Amino acid sequence: MRELTGRVAVVTGASRGIGRAIAVKLASLGAKVVVNYRSNQAAAEEVVQQIQGMGGEAIAVQADVSNYAEAQRLIQNALDHFGRLDILVNNAGTTRDALLVRMSEEDWDVVINTNLKGAFNCTKAAQRTMIKQRYGRIVNITSIAGLAGNPGQANYAAAKAGLVGFTKAVAKELGSRNITVNAVAPGYVPTDLTATLPPELVAKGIEMTPLGRPGTPEDIANAVAFLVSDEASYITGQVLSVDGGLAMQ
Ligand code: NAP
Repeated sequence: MRELTGRVAVVTGASRGIGRAIAVKLASLGAKVVVNYRSNQAAAEEVVQQIQGMGGEAIAVQADVSNYAEAQRLIQNALDHFGRLDILVNNAGTTRDALLVRMSEEDWDVVINTNLKGAFNCTKAAQRTMIKQRYGRIVNITSIAGLAGNPGQANYAAAKAGLVGFTKAVAKELGSRNITVNAVAPGYVPTDLTATLPPELVAKGIEMTPLGRPGTPEDIANAVAFLVSDEASYITGQVLSVDGGLAMQ
């Protein structure tokens, strides 16, 4: 029996990048996985096929997590299909970078609503089942930008810092129900999200990283796999930086 056999996981934003790696990793450990996406159905179906090709079980579910009703539907789909819900990874994220002088209200709203409100929406929808089960593992994907700030990312840094507070508050609320709530803070990971960063900024970031390389989606997925494992059952309310030492405090 593998580590997560019998567990059901919802991974938001799992059609690409880090979320995809998390979905595949949890499935490789035996979890049944709901692969959530917003618009990229073909990519999400490819992740499902990859998991099925490994002998695992997965379904793709379209839902915009920034919309509360859609987040509720996502969680309900997981319950209808797999009968339970053990793991929620709030990974869906987006950026609208601009210096504050040029940041529009829409830039602010989209980023806060996706990264921060999305986690609220999904966690609120999932908690009832986890409380009833007396078991749950929630992991929120924050960022070093939420810990250290980043020029041009006031919206994103605020959303990711908000996720840290959210993680700790909910960890305190749900601890007595055997539900752990933790966060993972990636450093720089090449994905579609970071593809438009200026190359000189990327080079500088890697130079400042003690481990001297960018992260991979798998580096982040490995940390999530640990936090949802039985080995991590006494860890809650923590932020685990997976950044090659970049934002070391
Ligand atoms: P990515 O490659 O751009 O993938 C984003 C994923 O989120 C896609 O699956 C996308 O779905 C989904 N998504 C976006 N908005 C959504 C919404 N409203 N509802 C549902 N799904 C939505 O990003 P990534 O780099 O893998 O980032 C994953 C997470 O890690 C994010 O929370 C990000 O902030 C965080 N992070 C990334 C880095 C990095 O260097 N890459 C560093 C720190 C933190 P579609 O395919 O359908 O569009």
